[in-house]
Amino acid sequence: MCVSVSVLASGSRGNSAVVQTARTRILVDVGLSCRETFRRMKALGEDPRSLSAIVITHEHSDHVYGLPVLARKLKIPVFMTGATHQTWARAQRDENGTRPTLDCLEIFAAGKSFQVGDIAITPFTIPHDAADPVGFTFRAEGVKVGIATDLGYVPASVRDHLRRCEVLVMESNHDVEMLRIGPYPWSVKQRVMSRVGHLSNDALAQFFSSDYDGEAAYVVLAHLSEHNNHPEIARKAAEKALGPRRTLLLNRVMLASQTEPLEPIRL
Ligand SMILES: [Zn+2]
Ligand SMILES: [Zn+2]
Repeated sequence: MCVSVSVLASGSRGNSAVVQTARTRILVDVGLSCRETFRRMKALGEDPRSLSAIVITHEHSDHVYGLPVLARKLKIPVFMTGATHQTWARAQRDENGTRPTLDCLEIFAAGKSFQVGDIAITPFTIPHDAADPVGFTFRAEGVKVGIATDLGYVPASVRDHLRRCEVLVMESNHDVEMLRIGPYPWSVKQRVMSRVGHLSNDALAQFFSSDYDGEAAYVVLAHLSEHNNHPEIARKAAEKALGPRRTLLLNRVMLASQTEPLEPIRL
């Protein structure tokens, strides 16, 4: 029996991951096209037709781009908050104003856990400029997995939810200096740096050195900016902050990529 985590893609051009046990397979966000999601799952030896459910963090297109097609194809439950669904459906209206329908929509509320097969899922509120954005923890087989990307900072409530995770997927979006001197217009820079924007390498390092319990076997750095970050800069900042907590068994740092699925983490 084991729990595994596969990050299929991570970054502003699409986010998607699979958290699974032998019985249950959850797709977290559908930021890639349906075809590309299937292709990456198959490349990892995983069968997309065996997915049990989809959970959605928020309505930004890098998290829902492939959702309508994939949901139609697989006919599996799609879980999101009511506000996320409303905002998503409004944005997806066609020229006649008709909203898309999801055949198996399930509404959850941040802070209230729910169960899919043998996986207990807890959504929690994160500070981000979307209608009702959430991160998730997943518990099964005595293992806890936490996913928190797209957040402007790490509030105390998020820190509490992320305690005692064996796998922690955390945003390490940008290097503040690279963002400051980089190509984005000032308004976009302000948005990214704001309290409802994206987590910088430094802010994540701050979390690792002061608030994190140090208990994860694997720490995955995710949602890296392609313009305002570099994988080795992000890795260095995280490894420095984790310091002596990095051992053979704890806090192995991995980098999620936009272009390639990350090798599955099995626990
Ligand atoms: Zn977002
Ligand atoms: Zn995003």
